[in-house]
Amino acid sequence: MEMVGQSVRQLPPSPPRLKVEHLTRAFGGSPVVEDVSLEVAAGQVACLLGPSGCGKSTTLRMIAGVEQPDSGRIWFDGQPVSDGGLFLPPEARSVGLMFQDFALFPHLTVAQNVAFGLRGGREEKDRRVAELLERVNLAGYGRKHPHQLSGGEQQRVALARALAPRPKVMLMDEPFSGLDNRLRDGIRDTTLEILKEEGAAVLLVTHEPDEALRMADEILLMRAGRIVQRGSPYNVYNAPVDRAAAAFFSDIN
Ligand code: ADP
Ligand code: MG
Repeated sequence: MEMVGQSVRQLPPSPPRLKVEHLTRAFGGSPVVEDVSLEVAAGQVACLLGPSGCGKSTTLRMIAGVEQPDSGRIWFDGQPVSDGGLFLPPEARSVGLMFQDFALFPHLTVAQNVAFGLRGGREEKDRRVAELLERVNLAGYGRKHPHQLSGGEQQRVALARALAPRPKVMLMDEPFSGLDNRLRDGIRDTTLEILKEEGAAVLLVTHEPDEALRMADEILLMRAGRIVQRGSPYNVYNAPVDRAAAAFFSDIN
């Protein structure tokens, strides 16, 4: 019996890559984020979806470490990064950031942009930059400058730059909204492929239901500072929690 017991004994489950509990933040007395809790595993994409002004960016900024929560706790791989008195800055959190008005450094080459956040020896950096440029389909673009690239190409450089240091958690705030409609679906698909290959836990903020349905493993539907529904794209789309959620999804064109 003892032998059987030993053979099925398992290691304790590893903590989620990103865990957020009871995150709350107010501005000037008005609550903007209220009691937000979520978990994202490595290799998973969670989409924080909701109308403009519902508190998505504020949530993301607290996880990034650029906005301090009023209360709540945040862990990366089980290690607290924000917890009462503790508040680690972004550079101590292993986060990759990508925002709508992502700015590449105009005076640096594509390769220098991608290498920007990398530490280590020259050879190691060059190898990582080459690997990423290939991954985003821009091998051979290393010596160009940002202004020589299309919007979609710049977007891919920004993605490569954010992923270069192998962040544990990748935070993306409406990263595709500056792009031409015709390009967007293709860029969403390639971005998703690259994110999956790199294996970070991804939290993607969007106000566009079709983007969340296309990219998410899990959708977190947010309204007025709270998460009102969470589930797979299939479930959230097919079983909206209330009329407002149904209406939100019915706007898809
Ligand atoms: P979303 O990203 O969902 O559009 P935000 O998180 O940007 O929403 O903003 C939520 C609300 O919080 C908005 O009403 C916004 O005006 C307010 N807000 C965000 N940041 C600040 C700030 N630094 N000071 C005051 N109000 C803010
Ligand atoms: Mg926002």
